[in-house]
Amino acid sequence: MKKLLILMIVALVLAGCQVNTNKIPVYAWASGPRDRTDKELSEEFKNYKDKGIDGLMYNGGQDPATYKRVGALAKDAGLEFHAWIPTMVQSGEGLLDTSLYAVNGLGQSAWTDPAFVPYYKFLCPEREEVYEFLEDMYSRVADVDEVDGIHLDYIRFPDVILARGLWDKYGLVMDREYPQFDYCYCDSCVTHFKEQTGIDILEVEDPSQVEEWKQFRYDQITNIVNRLADMAHSKNKQITAAVFPGPNSVAKKIVRQEWDKWNIDAFYPMNYNDFYLEDTKWIGDVCKEAVEATGGNSPIYSGLFICPDPVAKEEEPDPENHGLVPSEIQDAIDESISNGATGICLFTPSRMTEEGWEVFKKAIYRPKEKSAEIK
Ligand SMILES: [Zn+2]
Repeated sequence: MKKLLILMIVALVLAGCQVNTNKIPVYAWASGPRDRTDKELSEEFKNYKDKGIDGLMYNGGQDPATYKRVGALAKDAGLEFHAWIPTMVQSGEGLLDTSLYAVNGLGQSAWTDPAFVPYYKFLCPEREEVYEFLEDMYSRVADVDEVDGIHLDYIRFPDVILARGLWDKYGLVMDREYPQFDYCYCDSCVTHFKEQTGIDILEVEDPSQVEEWKQFRYDQITNIVNRLADMAHSKNKQITAAVFPGPNSVAKKIVRQEWDKWNIDAFYPMNYNDFYLEDTKWIGDVCKEAVEATGGNSPIYSGLFICPDPVAKEEEPDPENHGLVPSEIQDAIDESISNGATGICLFTPSRMTEEGWEVFKKAIYRPKEKSAEIK
């Protein structure tokens, strides 16, 4: 009798937990499969599912066969599966004619003289051959049954201003737009812009002051996204994107993403506070901005940058090894959700420590009243 009573109490408590809490949707950016076996991948994915992850944005190159194989294993583990493939950065040799790469304000091609890092080989968004390459590549992946959606990344221009937290790493002071990092001044872009506005941008002393030139470039990216969205939707697949925070506070200014104009199914702003020398409160501010800018019509999944080695963070000079430490994870999630984000996305689960997972497991369950308030 006593045993039965205890069991009943346990059942009631469990039922109470279910009634009074909601798990927030959790996505994660993950890469692979490199040389891992099916068994190893299955174990990895099941582990993610147990930890509370609902879906993967998976970067596995451009071969549809890879997404078929890995997608089947992710589905078996109960995960949603999105193919995460960079868009405007195509650094592979022989993929495209090198004349299709973007040109900076000094006349240098991103193919031969990429900004900041060797892989920053950005394409010109004006050229139809570029769009055709992208549509062909993404549509072959979207055709894979195991793929729920395609996830765009590097869907932007190179950073004309680098995030403040990265200036020291690259030895730069980016107090204004410099021609070396400003794209695209290829013949096609210059000619088309002149036809459209009558302005010869090569004759302008400070192009950063020309509003029409800014808008022209926001529109170039928006057009690519919206055409790809039509393609994905025609195949009944989702299309989503990793974007810079904002759009107004950061994304438009530094990478020319006017993403509130994009017809996609969800946004994954990379709210990487340490890159901007900001705290978790800022994560809430940019989530609020995102929800307001999109009119609350599209889910916002707040991208959280996790610190891989919390103990060494203070001494670590490279900001790309910074990120949220376990004591900040709860706050970062609370700030995101209470400011209207639908869920979160981890960069990356492999950077999480045991202590981080412990905090995370509690933080992704929220009292129902709080969730109701948001709606
Ligand atoms: Zn161009």
